[in-house]
Formats: sequence, structure tokens, C-alpha cells
Amino acid sequence: MSAAPVAIVTGAAEGIGWATAQQLAHAGWSVALFDLNGALAAERAQALGAQHSGWACDVTDADAVKAQVSDVVARHGRIDGLVNNAGIADQTAPTLKQDIDAFDKVLAVHLRGAFVMSQHVIAQMNQQARDAHGNRGAIVNIGSIASFGGIPGRNAYCAAKAGVLGMTRALATEWARRGIRVNAVAPGYVKTALVASLTERGAIDAQAIARRTPMGRMAAPEEIAQVIAFLASPLASYITGAVLPVDGGWAALGAPEAALGPLQED
Ligand code: NDP
Repeated sequence: MSAAPVAIVTGAAEGIGWATAQQLAHAGWSVALFDLNGALAAERAQALGAQHSGWACDVTDADAVKAQVSDVVARHGRIDGLVNNAGIADQTAPTLKQDIDAFDKVLAVHLRGAFVMSQHVIAQMNQQARDAHGNRGAIVNIGSIASFGGIPGRNAYCAAKAGVLGMTRALATEWARRGIRVNAVAPGYVKTALVASLTERGAIDAQAIARRTPMGRMAAPEEIAQVIAFLASPLASYITGAVLPVDGGWAALGAPEAALGPLQED
């Protein structure tokens, strides 16, 4: 059992999820790290300290999610935060050559995964006592610039990330009166393995992204993690149903990128 607030982070062994697990641990949470790679999740948890735990869990497997969430409650006693971070990149073929199973898989990880995780975690949060502001727990979902804008050919990813915002608002409004907050962050491009694999496959051009981003660079994973941790924390006690872009100004730009001027070297 744990006196510290407890958070589950999915896809926590790598990238933004791992940065978020570290940020939450630093802020005093006990973190349950869920990942397809259970061995790496357990290793990461051990590196964070004895009050943290690592679990093998495929978020698309409803039975596994049910069992693992129940194991987390048995181990840590409660769940105060859930970060639905697990995600995969899209196929890179043009629409007419895209594979329907690959399409379904992207939707399953991002949408079915976040839904099933939220179902089981909300059932637990809903039984917990309210804090001084009347809240019982918080969920943070991960959108993207693909939640707002079309990326040619990335059909499933754009649909999934737009869907994440819809589900965020639906859950937020359903559960607000029960004291469960649900929000989303919408990161721009972040330097993680997911983006490295898209770069290697020629699906994205890192220099072109830097030129299109007002701040002129990709994010580091911890810059997304800090905002996720804020939305999960009591500092965000009156925020629900919100989407916070963390994108270096990407969504704010309403002019050709030439209006930004050259990338600065100094
Ligand atoms: P990474 O690929 O670096 O990490 C994703 C993690 O999720 C991996 O550890 C992966 O495990 C795990 N994972 C994948 N599928 C499942 C599953 N079914 N169940 C449990 N865990 C799973 O990705 P990022 O850190 O870049 O992305 C994290 C989230 O942020 C995603 O939702 C992504 O869409 C979103 N995002 C990322 C951006 C970016 O630029 N990087 C921008 C905007 C949003 P394994 O390695 O074993 O497959």
C-alpha cells in the first residue's frame, strides 16, 4: 500500500511514457508502468525506486487490462492518475495501398486501448474518497497535431488522434460530477523512437518539421511529460475536458512558414 498518489502510465517503457513516469516519480507519485515490454517496464520501475512497479500489459487486450489494473490496486491500494500514452506509428503506404488490418491496429492501440484502460481505472477512482476540491482522480490522454490537422496518407493515425479528443470530452463531461477529470495534451513532434522510425522510413523530414515549427525544433520527451504531470496533478484541479497543445507554436501558425524567418543558429 502507498500513501503517495498512484498513477498508471501506459507505454511507459519508452519515449514520452518513460519521461512521464520519471516526471511523476520526481513529483512524489508512485508509478505503475504498463508496457508491451514487461521486462523493460519492470527494469524502468526498479530504476525509479521500490515504490514503483512495472507490468506487461497490451492495452488492446481487455482481459489483460482488467487483470493488471486490479493487480495495481492490490499492490498500491488506489489509483489517482492514468496516462493513456501507449501508441504506435501509422503505415506509410499511400491510401490506395494501405492494409486494413494495419489501419485497425492503429485505432485499436490508441482508441480501444485508452477506452478499456479508462473503463477499469474509472471504476476504481469512482469508489475513492474525494480530495479537498471534490476530485477523485485524473486521466490524461495523448493527442497530437494530427488531432487537428490532416497529414496526407496517415489516415488511421489522424482518425485515432482526433478520436482521442472526442473521447476525452465525452469522458470528461460524463464523469465531472463524480470528481474525475479527463484532459488531453496534443504534442508536436517529439524526439522519440516512434519519430526516429518514421524518419528512417522517410515518412517525416526532421529539417522540414523544424522549419514549420515556430520554435524551430522538436520537443524533448520531458517537455511533454511536464505538462502531462501538471494536468494529472491537483494544480489542474478545475481543468477538465481540455486539450493543451504542447507543440512549439505549430497549431498557432496561420501563415506560410517563410513568415517565420530562417532557423536561428545563435
Ligand atoms: P514510443 O514508440 O517511443 O513509445 C511508445 C511505447 O508504447 C513503447 O514502449 C511501446 O512498446 C508501447 N506500446 C505500443 N503498443 C502498446 C500496447 N498495445 N500496449 C502497451 N504498450 C504499447 O512512442 P512515443 O513516446 O513517441 O509516443 C507516445 C505517445 O505520444 C503515442 O500515443 C504517440 O502517438 C503520441 N505522440 C507522439 C509524438 C511524437 O512526436 N513522438 C507526437 C504526438 C503524439 P514497444 O516499444 O514494446 O512497442
